[in-house]
Amino acid sequence: MAVRANPNLLEELKHYGADDVTKCYHCGNCSATCPLSKEPFIFPRKSMRYLQMGLGDKLKGNLEPWLCYYCGECSDECPREAEPGETMMSMRRWLTAKYDITGISKLFYESWVAEAGAIMLVALLTGIGFYWFGMTKGGGDFGIYAGPNAFLPAHTEGNFFGLGWNVHTFDWIMGAVLGGLLVTNCLRMWWFTTGSRKDMKVPLGTYIKHAFLLPWHFITQKRYAECDKKKPWIIHLILMLSYLTLLILIMLFLHHMHAPETHWVHIFGYASTIGLLGTAAYALNGRLNKTETHYKHSHESDLIFLFLLLYVGTTGILQHFAYRFLGNEILANFMYIIHMMGVVPMLVLEVPFSKWAHLAYRPYAMYLAAVQADVIAEREGTKVPALAPQKQMTA
Ligand code: SF4
Ligand code: SF4
Repeated sequence: MAVRANPNLLEELKHYGADDVTKCYHCGNCSATCPLSKEPFIFPRKSMRYLQMGLGDKLKGNLEPWLCYYCGECSDECPREAEPGETMMSMRRWLTAKYDITGISKLFYESWVAEAGAIMLVALLTGIGFYWFGMTKGGGDFGIYAGPNAFLPAHTEGNFFGLGWNVHTFDWIMGAVLGGLLVTNCLRMWWFTTGSRKDMKVPLGTYIKHAFLLPWHFITQKRYAECDKKKPWIIHLILMLSYLTLLILIMLFLHHMHAPETHWVHIFGYASTIGLLGTAAYALNGRLNKTETHYKHSHESDLIFLFLLLYVGTTGILQHFAYRFLGNEILANFMYIIHMMGVVPMLVLEVPFSKWAHLAYRPYAMYLAAVQADVIAEREGTKVPALAPQKQMTA
């Protein structure tokens, strides 16, 4: 089949953060240096080549950008300062836009004004919507924060047009919408990288055999730990686990989080809020002051993501303190709405369409890479274990 080259690909990738790709003269230093580059996936040089040659379809079917955790070692070693680490990051953004069926991701990555504008619009609608919901559900007492008559009841059912909804219903609706979008996009990712490839016929048993890798890589981010520098992995792990803990607390224990008496879930809430705020502040400082190689270049979406995290973490803890330590239920309800004005845009815009999407795509790529490695080893009659360490000088 003829391979089509897209002469505008390099220009297109610039919107996603790629910069000095033409400087690369293919010495292969980066692939030899990369601690995560292992047979049968040797990167990042090959991906740099695809980009230089305008091979958009090859790039779209490429899992390798997701196997990179941006430790920055390749960029440090590149004799041409072609920034292969940042280029891999820009490819992940570009791929996120390609997987997204709605086109929203492309819009956000190509225009930070559109992303910031959409966040502000959704925040405004959320504020109005939650206030309206509080006022119409049957009591609308802004002076009551928790319990059956609360302005925004977390547990006891409200009387929302006779439907018996409470504020928790919104979490589950958002969860369902998010899940639907991510599953659709993951299916597209599978099709581009595996399903549409004639040389990649995967037996069902191989998919099942590696299924455990999905939760394993999601929770541990273990592959990141294989980088020579351990600090970025620890920071990333704390951020991810804090976020996951807060998500579980909100989805399953919201009424205990809002309870006036002390409950064991509060300990997890405090710990994960500290983890979230601490790591987000660390990353923001790193990006603003360019403290490490992987913080040297910042796309606008990186900064929007961190500002949103800090906003959500700070307003969440202020809402909690207003109720539990100040006993000011009016202030707590006010802060609740302010907090949700960050939570909703973060969940409905950032998770499926922007930086947070890598939470799903990266472990999924690890899984697909293990599946593909099995198929390649079987086809070539080799015994190469999936993603076993085998560095090469060139690739
Ligand atoms: S180190 Fe990698 S990115 Fe840099 S010139 Fe060599 S092949 Fe290109
Ligand atoms: S940034 Fe690190 S993990 Fe990514 S390609 Fe470069 S050396 Fe490998």
